Amino acid sequence: MEIKRAEKMGFCFGVAGAINLCNKIAEEKNFQGNLFILGMLVHNKNVTSDMEKKGFKTLSEEDLKEEKIKLNKKDTVIIRAHGTTKEIYDILEKEKVKIYDATCVFVERIRKALIEAEKNGKKIIFIGDRYHPEVKGIVSFGNDVTIVNSFEEFTKFSVDKEKEYCLLTQTTLNKELFFKIKEYTEKNYKNIDIFSKICGATYERQKAVEKLAGEVEMVLIVGDNKSSNTKKLYEISKSVNEKSYLIQDKTELNSSWFNGIKKVGITAGASTPEEIILEIEKEIRGTFDDKHGL
Ligand code: SF4
Repeated sequence: MEIKRAEKMGFCFGVAGAINLCNKIAEEKNFQGNLFILGMLVHNKNVTSDMEKKGFKTLSEEDLKEEKIKLNKKDTVIIRAHGTTKEIYDILEKEKVKIYDATCVFVERIRKALIEAEKNGKKIIFIGDRYHPEVKGIVSFGNDVTIVNSFEEFTKFSVDKEKEYCLLTQTTLNKELFFKIKEYTEKNYKNIDIFSKICGATYERQKAVEKLAGEVEMVLIVGDNKSSNTKKLYEISKSVNEKSYLIQDKTELNSSWFNGIKKVGITAGASTPEEIILEIEKEIRGTFDDKHGL
């Protein structure tokens, strides 16, 4: 049986950086207080339980704000790849804990652009999901930010032609939506600057699974069933190839899926560790390949 991987899959650069940082901190063992990760490092229960085994505890932003958790100067807090809000940075600094900031460089660039634009007197229009932690974090650094999440919302927003604006986007914004808004803006306004730092990781993974699904007889999408980017990969794959299955690890493989299959495709969400993928490939080779004599 042939196993074909998607051309782009698994950890994105920001998530890989955050996980490497945690592993490094855990290995150095030169911390005295508690080791906290702010929010979920990634939406993957295997990674979360691995981090727990290494001594990390999860720290929720709500608990911090509501003072349900009392931090100690000796504690260490890691800020995840999506970043956090200004309020949380302020609390952590006030508590004088040791901060390791794993905010992805793409998120950081948008945050800096927002601060800079406001400094230059511009009003901010932000395109993205207002409930997403990345968006909440970035916009918290602004004073007067309007968030829109669709083309319709954008066109309803009344732009004051006397004022200057800066248009910013969430890193994972759908590219088609961005280009539609960009085209509309350039046609209708002269007073809106566009600053886009859409990250290619999500888009590349989606395009790769779409291609893969058409080249194989069955596709396995590996990732946590709560991860939105994993679920999106599954939906794309399923729309091309009916035999698409979302699994969290090797224990969820089903022998009946492999009947008569000679070519299996495999992809993984941006928060799925390589070891999980390797274990699945090994299981396919060792169990299902033999069983069906292919
Ligand atoms: S911006 Fe891109 S690379 Fe950075 S964490 Fe988000 S998905 Fe990953």
